[in-house]
Amino acid sequence: MQQKHKEYDVVIVGAGPAGLSAAIKLAQLASQQHPLKICVLDKGPEVGAHIIPGTVFDPTALSELIPTWQVKKAPIHTAVTRNEFIVLSEKKSIRLSSLLQMKNKGHYLINLGLLTRWMAEQAESLGVEICTGLSVTEVLFDNKGRVSGVKTGEIGLDREGHPKKNHQAGTEIKARYTLLAEGCRGSLTKMISEKYGLQQNKSPQTYGIALKELWEVPAMQHRMGTVTHTIGWPLENQTYGKSFVYHLENNHVAIGLIVGLDYKNPYLDPFQEFQRLKHHPAIQPLLEGGKRIAFSANAVTEGGLQALPKLYFPGGLLIGGSAGFLNVAKIKGTHTAMKSGMLAAEVVFDGLLRSRGSELSYFERKVKESWIWDELKRTRNIRPAFRFGLWPGLLYSALDAYVFRGLAPWTIPSAKPNHTTLQKAAVSKPIEYPKPDGSISFDKLSSVQLSNTHHEENQPNHLKLVNPEIPILVNLALYDAPEQRYCPTQVYEIVRNSLDIPQLQIHAKNCVHCKICDIKDPTQNIQWTPPQGGEGPNYSKI
Ligand SMILES: Cc1cc2nc3c(=O)[nH]c(=O)nc-3n(C[C@H](O)[C@H](O)[C@H](O)COP(=O)(O)OP(=O)(O)OC[C@H]3O[C@@H](n4cnc5c(N)ncnc54)[C@H](O)[C@@H]3O)c2cc1C
Ligand code: SF4
Repeated sequence: MQQKHKEYDVVIVGAGPAGLSAAIKLAQLASQQHPLKICVLDKGPEVGAHIIPGTVFDPTALSELIPTWQVKKAPIHTAVTRNEFIVLSEKKSIRLSSLLQMKNKGHYLINLGLLTRWMAEQAESLGVEICTGLSVTEVLFDNKGRVSGVKTGEIGLDREGHPKKNHQAGTEIKARYTLLAEGCRGSLTKMISEKYGLQQNKSPQTYGIALKELWEVPAMQHRMGTVTHTIGWPLENQTYGKSFVYHLENNHVAIGLIVGLDYKNPYLDPFQEFQRLKHHPAIQPLLEGGKRIAFSANAVTEGGLQALPKLYFPGGLLIGGSAGFLNVAKIKGTHTAMKSGMLAAEVVFDGLLRSRGSELSYFERKVKESWIWDELKRTRNIRPAFRFGLWPGLLYSALDAYVFRGLAPWTIPSAKPNHTTLQKAAVSKPIEYPKPDGSISFDKLSSVQLSNTHHEENQPNHLKLVNPEIPILVNLALYDAPEQRYCPTQVYEIVRNSLDIPQLQIHAKNCVHCKICDIKDPTQNIQWTPPQGGEGPNYSKI
């Protein structure tokens, strides 16, 4: 079959806030004298399909990119009107009225999927080509080892990798510059980072798992514009985590829990911790009588400034979540993702004008001179301080925010890579989780259904095992198969045959693309790769 081939000035992988901001900025910079061919690719069936609704949005970057966003009817309506910060113990809650609150003045509660769809319309009206339903699986290199574009994955292969009737070859998309905007733990970003040593001499990147549900609650329980964050229970003091409750429009409430993936106990199950959280006396009354309408899970970066990788490689740049621009102390990364995309666009445009490989390293200087750097610098010590436990972390956060104002003359180094932190099962305490009650708490399989996840079964498994024996010989033997617990959608299951010999079964169709297995597997034996384009969760159906 003949290889398909296309050419652009710039190709952007990922139509999230970072990729779309870069595309819009590039299109704004282009002119009749300097027209540009820009292409954005996304694996979701439509823009926003893989982007989870229920976000506190800082509009600073959007106001710089499209100052008329209100006139152009961006889907941003609900201002944050109230902030709460609560420390939970098993039965009690301490409300910290102003101390340690996450300030959200001038911020909005939005559906980020809808915002990205609106941004895609703005980009298309400026001539950007946006192609969805295409997983990008390969990076292309020229004969000097410079990235020269990307290749989309084949569609229509069977389980053994043989072409089926509907087979379509991948398309080579050549471009003078490639921007990787895949979000957290992108598969191409991981490969490029290893090839060019982008994380070398930096702290290792660390992550959290973010679980989220969207609820419709009775009107009398809803307080539109309210943002609540909690810390503490159900996690024990040495495990980092933070929950959030956002009161959106239409009596919708987004509730979620982030658990730091540096946790040690292999029996910990982040999904079950989240289900327990909802039964806390400070939270359950909000959800009672309500209906859960969506579920999602994703990784978030937690390494902050200390773990930012080298942001450029020959022929391209890392932007947004791919680079790790999330402000973990505030659980906000949309505005920094957008700003990084805009700065990348300026650097790339400069390179295109000069028609030579511009100094891509200039991107790092631009980031350092921007408000992204200032924001990440001021909060750089907050997350690492929680490595010393909940109360030392809270105390340090208060000091850092109110005494040092983020300008402490020291930097706490970030942690070890997350896959190295599990202790052996033999020295760990099993955790007994209560059964879900089906009205406030639920099981994993009913949750996958609410993420509208779909994968065709007869295709190559997108969850690859480097060594198929390790799940039993190492993971089961030493850690009691932790993938059965950290995967939020029960993709991994240890089954036993008639001779009682255990083996790992992988239910890849349930995968919500959170990439936790790729991060937390103790020997890095599991590799997440993108499945056929257009598959995975679909949050735009909400
Ligand atoms: C549960 C949760 C809650 C959050 N809450 C907030 C909040 O309240 N406020 C806030 O500001 N931030 C929040 N964040 C963080 C915020 O969502 C991210 O920082 C932001 O979305 C990053 O934007 P991005 O464009 O870099 O990546 P993403 O938004 O992740 O977009 C990446 C896109 O790339 C596509 N893609 C990835 N790989 C490929 C590939 N190989 N081929 C083709 N397409 C690909 C994906 O389908 C996706 O559409 C939250 C994150 C999570 C997980
Ligand atoms: S298989 Fe991996 S990427 Fe998929 S849902 Fe489970 S942990 Fe997440």
